[in-house]
Amino acid sequence: NANSAAYQRILLKLSGEALMGDDAFGINRATIERIVQEIAQVARMGVQIAVVIGGGNIFRGVAGGAAGMDRATADYMGMLATVMNSLALADAMEKAGLTARVMSAIGIEQVVEPYVRPKALQYLEEGKVVVFAAGTGNPFFTTDTAAALRGAEIGAQIVLKATKVDGVYTADPKKDANATRYSQLSFDEAIAKSLGIMDATAFALCRDQKLPIKVFSIFKSGALERVVAGQDEGTLVYA
Ligand code: UDP
Repeated sequence: NANSAAYQRILLKLSGEALMGDDAFGINRATIERIVQEIAQVARMGVQIAVVIGGGNIFRGVAGGAAGMDRATADYMGMLATVMNSLALADAMEKAGLTARVMSAIGIEQVVEPYVRPKALQYLEEGKVVVFAAGTGNPFFTTDTAAALRGAEIGAQIVLKATKVDGVYTADPKKDANATRYSQLSFDEAIAKSLGIMDATAFALCRDQKLPIKVFSIFKSGALERVVAGQDEGTLVYA
Protein backbone atom coordinates (compact mmCIF):
# COMPACT_ATOMS: atom_id res chain seq x y z
CA ASN A 1 0.00 0.00 0.00
CA ALA A 2 1.47 3.22 -1.29
CA ASN A 3 0.28 5.21 1.73
CA SER A 4 2.80 3.54 3.99
CA ALA A 5 5.72 4.58 1.77
CA ALA A 6 7.73 7.68 2.64
CA TYR A 7 9.10 7.86 -0.92
CA GLN A 8 7.31 7.51 -4.24
CA ARG A 9 10.44 7.04 -6.38
CA ILE A 10 13.70 5.54 -5.23
CA LEU A 11 17.09 4.75 -6.70
CA LEU A 12 18.51 1.55 -5.24
CA LYS A 13 22.26 0.99 -5.58
CA LEU A 14 23.40 -2.60 -5.22
CA SER A 15 27.08 -3.50 -5.33
CA GLY A 16 28.11 -6.34 -7.56
CA GLU A 17 29.47 -8.09 -4.50
CA ALA A 18 25.96 -8.23 -3.05
CA LEU A 19 25.15 -10.83 -5.71
CA MET A 20 28.01 -13.15 -4.77
CA GLY A 21 26.50 -14.47 -1.55
CA ASP A 22 29.12 -16.71 0.00
CA ASP A 23 30.70 -17.45 -3.35
CA ALA A 24 34.08 -15.95 -4.19
CA PHE A 25 32.99 -14.66 -7.59
CA GLY A 26 30.02 -14.19 -9.89
CA ILE A 27 26.32 -14.40 -9.32
CA ASN A 28 24.76 -16.59 -6.65
CA ARG A 29 21.24 -17.53 -7.66
CA ALA A 30 19.81 -17.94 -4.15
CA THR A 31 21.27 -14.58 -3.12
CA ILE A 32 19.84 -12.75 -6.10
CA GLU A 33 16.43 -14.30 -5.42
CA ARG A 34 16.56 -13.12 -1.83
CA ILE A 35 17.39 -9.58 -2.93
CA VAL A 36 14.55 -9.68 -5.47
CA GLN A 37 12.10 -10.67 -2.71
CA GLU A 38 13.15 -7.55 -0.79
CA ILE A 39 12.62 -5.43 -3.92
CA ALA A 40 9.24 -7.07 -4.57
CA GLN A 41 8.01 -6.08 -1.09
CA VAL A 42 8.71 -2.45 -1.92
CA ALA A 43 7.19 -2.72 -5.40
CA ARG A 44 3.99 -3.95 -3.73
CA MET A 45 3.92 -0.70 -1.73
CA GLY A 46 3.47 1.09 -5.05
CA VAL A 47 6.91 2.68 -4.99
CA GLN A 48 8.65 3.40 -8.29
CA ILE A 49 11.99 1.60 -8.27
CA ALA A 50 15.12 2.22 -10.30
CA VAL A 51 18.20 0.11 -9.68
CA VAL A 52 21.87 0.66 -10.41
CA ILE A 53 24.02 -2.39 -9.97
CA GLY A 54 27.80 -2.61 -9.74
CA GLY A 55 30.13 -5.13 -11.31
CA GLY A 56 32.72 -5.80 -8.64
CA ASN A 57 31.72 -9.48 -8.39
CA ILE A 58 32.96 -9.93 -11.96
CA PHE A 59 35.43 -7.20 -12.86
CA ARG A 60 36.75 -3.93 -11.50
CA GLY A 61 38.61 -1.47 -13.68
CA VAL A 62 41.09 -0.52 -10.96
CA ALA A 63 42.16 -4.16 -10.62
CA GLY A 64 42.67 -4.47 -14.36
CA GLY A 65 44.59 -1.19 -14.35
CA ALA A 66 46.77 -2.33 -11.46
CA ALA A 67 47.54 -5.55 -13.35
CA GLY A 68 48.90 -3.51 -16.24
CA MET A 69 45.88 -3.04 -18.48
CA ASP A 70 44.96 0.27 -19.98
CA ARG A 71 42.67 1.73 -17.34
CA ALA A 72 39.96 2.96 -19.70
CA THR A 73 39.78 -0.44 -21.41
CA ALA A 74 39.56 -2.14 -18.02
CA ASP A 75 36.76 0.22 -17.03
CA TYR A 76 34.79 -0.68 -20.15
CA MET A 77 35.14 -4.31 -19.08
CA GLY A 78 33.82 -3.30 -15.68
CA MET A 79 30.84 -1.60 -17.30
CA LEU A 80 30.12 -4.75 -19.29
CA ALA A 81 30.20 -6.68 -16.01
CA THR A 82 27.40 -4.45 -14.73
CA VAL A 83 25.40 -5.31 -17.85
CA MET A 84 25.68 -9.00 -16.97
CA ASN A 85 24.55 -8.34 -13.42
CA SER A 86 21.69 -6.18 -14.66
CA LEU A 87 20.48 -8.96 -16.96
CA ALA A 88 20.63 -11.49 -14.12
CA LEU A 89 18.78 -9.17 -11.77
CA ALA A 90 16.08 -8.30 -14.31
CA ASP A 91 15.64 -11.98 -15.14
CA ALA A 92 15.20 -12.85 -11.46
CA MET A 93 12.72 -10.00 -11.05
CA GLU A 94 10.65 -11.22 -14.00
CA LYS A 95 10.66 -14.76 -12.53
CA ALA A 96 9.37 -13.27 -9.28
CA GLY A 97 6.45 -11.63 -11.08
CA LEU A 98 7.82 -8.10 -11.42
CA THR A 99 8.20 -6.36 -14.76
CA ALA A 100 11.75 -5.17 -15.30
CA ARG A 101 13.51 -3.21 -18.02
CA VAL A 102 17.26 -2.91 -18.43
CA MET A 103 18.65 0.26 -20.00
CA SER A 104 22.33 0.59 -20.87
CA ALA A 105 24.53 3.68 -20.78
CA ILE A 106 26.65 2.21 -23.58
CA GLY A 107 25.27 1.11 -26.95
CA ILE A 108 24.77 -2.65 -26.95
CA GLU A 109 21.36 -2.76 -28.51
CA GLN A 110 21.08 -6.43 -29.45
CA VAL A 111 21.30 -7.18 -25.74
CA VAL A 112 19.82 -4.23 -23.87
CA GLU A 113 17.95 -1.13 -24.92
CA PRO A 114 19.78 2.17 -24.60
CA TYR A 115 19.20 4.53 -21.71
CA VAL A 116 16.75 7.21 -22.79
CA ARG A 117 15.60 9.36 -19.91
CA PRO A 118 11.95 9.97 -20.95
CA LYS A 119 11.53 6.26 -21.62
CA ALA A 120 12.93 5.40 -18.22
CA LEU A 121 10.48 7.82 -16.63
CA GLN A 122 7.64 6.25 -18.60
CA TYR A 123 8.59 2.75 -17.42
CA LEU A 124 8.74 3.94 -13.83
CA GLU A 125 5.30 5.50 -14.11
CA GLU A 126 4.03 2.21 -15.53
CA GLY A 127 5.27 0.43 -12.44
CA LYS A 128 8.16 -1.34 -14.14
CA VAL A 129 11.43 -1.71 -12.29
CA VAL A 130 14.17 -0.04 -14.33
CA VAL A 131 17.72 -1.35 -14.07
CA PHE A 132 20.36 1.08 -15.25
CA ALA A 133 23.27 -0.89 -16.68
CA ALA A 134 26.82 0.09 -17.70
CA GLY A 135 27.21 2.71 -14.99
CA THR A 136 27.55 6.23 -16.32
CA GLY A 137 28.91 4.92 -19.63
CA ASN A 138 32.27 6.56 -18.93
CA PRO A 139 35.54 5.16 -17.66
CA PHE A 140 37.04 6.53 -14.43
CA PHE A 141 33.62 6.61 -12.79
CA THR A 142 31.88 4.14 -10.52
CA THR A 143 28.40 2.75 -10.24
CA ASP A 144 27.98 4.80 -7.05
CA THR A 145 28.34 7.86 -9.27
CA ALA A 146 25.91 6.33 -11.77
CA ALA A 147 23.44 5.92 -8.90
CA ALA A 148 23.80 9.57 -7.92
CA LEU A 149 23.58 10.70 -11.55
CA ARG A 150 20.55 8.61 -12.51
CA GLY A 151 18.93 9.32 -9.15
CA ALA A 152 19.17 13.05 -9.83
CA GLU A 153 18.06 12.67 -13.45
CA ILE A 154 14.90 10.72 -12.72
CA GLY A 155 14.01 12.84 -9.72
CA ALA A 156 14.37 10.03 -7.19
CA GLN A 157 13.68 11.29 -3.68
CA ILE A 158 16.51 9.25 -2.21
CA VAL A 159 19.45 7.05 -3.15
CA LEU A 160 19.39 3.82 -1.17
CA LYS A 161 22.89 2.48 -0.89
CA ALA A 162 22.73 -1.21 -0.04
CA THR A 163 25.78 -2.49 1.82
CA LYS A 164 26.73 -5.45 3.98
CA VAL A 165 26.66 -3.33 7.15
CA ASP A 166 23.33 -1.91 8.33
CA GLY A 167 24.41 1.72 8.28
CA VAL A 168 27.26 4.07 9.04
CA TYR A 169 28.99 3.50 12.38
CA THR A 170 31.18 5.63 14.63
CA ALA A 171 33.85 2.94 14.27
CA ASP A 172 34.18 -0.45 12.59
CA PRO A 173 31.52 -2.53 14.42
CA LYS A 174 33.54 -5.69 13.73
CA LYS A 175 36.54 -4.29 15.60
CA ASP A 176 35.01 -1.99 18.18
CA ALA A 177 32.24 -3.23 20.50
CA ASN A 178 31.38 0.36 21.42
CA ALA A 179 30.70 1.39 17.83
CA THR A 180 27.26 2.90 17.40
CA ARG A 181 25.19 3.46 14.28
CA TYR A 182 24.40 6.98 13.15
CA SER A 183 20.65 7.16 12.67
CA GLN A 184 21.15 10.26 10.53
CA LEU A 185 23.74 12.88 9.78
CA SER A 186 24.18 15.77 7.36
CA PHE A 187 26.45 15.76 4.33
CA ASP A 188 28.67 18.28 6.09
CA GLU A 189 28.94 16.12 9.22
CA ALA A 190 29.86 13.12 7.07
CA ILE A 191 32.65 15.16 5.46
CA ALA A 192 33.86 16.59 8.79
CA LYS A 193 34.03 13.09 10.27
CA SER A 194 35.65 11.66 7.10
CA LEU A 195 32.95 9.01 6.82
CA GLY A 196 33.20 7.29 3.45
CA ILE A 197 29.53 7.01 2.47
CA MET A 198 30.04 6.79 -1.29
CA ASP A 199 33.00 7.69 -3.46
CA ALA A 200 33.81 11.39 -3.58
CA THR A 201 32.27 12.07 -7.00
CA ALA A 202 29.00 10.37 -6.11
CA PHE A 203 28.90 12.03 -2.72
CA ALA A 204 29.52 15.50 -4.17
CA LEU A 205 26.79 15.03 -6.77
CA CYS A 206 24.21 13.98 -4.16
CA ARG A 207 25.24 16.85 -1.93
CA ASP A 208 25.01 19.43 -4.75
CA GLN A 209 21.60 18.12 -5.80
CA LYS A 210 20.38 17.81 -2.20
CA LEU A 211 19.63 14.17 -2.91
CA PRO A 212 19.60 12.29 0.39
CA ILE A 213 21.36 8.94 0.76
CA LYS A 214 20.32 6.08 2.98
CA VAL A 215 22.90 3.42 3.81
CA PHE A 216 21.36 0.11 4.87
CA SER A 217 21.90 -3.64 4.67
CA ILE A 218 20.21 -5.53 1.85
CA PHE A 219 20.85 -8.76 3.76
CA LYS A 220 18.71 -7.78 6.74
CA SER A 221 15.26 -9.17 6.07
CA GLY A 222 12.66 -6.41 5.63
CA ALA A 223 15.23 -3.62 5.92
CA LEU A 224 14.55 -2.20 2.46
CA GLU A 225 10.82 -2.07 3.23
CA ARG A 226 11.47 -0.32 6.56
CA VAL A 227 13.74 2.18 4.82
CA VAL A 228 11.09 2.96 2.23
CA ALA A 229 8.50 3.30 5.00
CA GLY A 230 10.74 6.00 6.48
CA GLN A 231 11.60 4.04 9.63
CA ASP A 232 14.81 4.26 11.65
CA GLU A 233 16.75 1.68 9.69
CA GLY A 234 20.30 2.25 8.46
CA THR A 235 21.78 5.74 8.26
CA LEU A 236 20.22 8.73 6.55
CA VAL A 237 22.54 11.35 5.07
CA TYR A 238 20.57 14.54 4.51
CA ALA A 239 21.26 17.89 2.89
N1 UDP B 1 32.66 1.51 -14.27
C1 UDP B 1 33.03 2.59 -15.07
N2 UDP B 1 32.21 3.67 -15.17
C2 UDP B 1 31.03 3.77 -14.50
C3 UDP B 1 30.67 2.69 -13.66
C4 UDP B 1 31.48 1.58 -13.56
O1 UDP B 1 34.08 2.55 -15.69
O2 UDP B 1 30.33 4.77 -14.64
C5 UDP B 1 33.50 0.30 -14.22
C6 UDP B 1 34.68 0.42 -13.29
O3 UDP B 1 35.76 -0.26 -13.85
C7 UDP B 1 34.20 -0.30 -12.05
C8 UDP B 1 33.36 -1.41 -12.63
O4 UDP B 1 32.73 -0.80 -13.77
O5 UDP B 1 35.26 -0.83 -11.30
C9 UDP B 1 32.33 -1.98 -11.71
O6 UDP B 1 31.62 -0.97 -11.04
P1 UDP B 1 31.80 -0.71 -9.47
O7 UDP B 1 33.23 -0.89 -9.06
O8 UDP B 1 31.16 0.58 -9.15
O9 UDP B 1 30.97 -1.90 -8.89
P2 UDP B 1 30.65 -2.30 -7.37
O10 UDP B 1 31.85 -1.94 -6.54
O11 UDP B 1 29.45 -1.51 -6.94
O12 UDP B 1 30.36 -3.77 -7.44
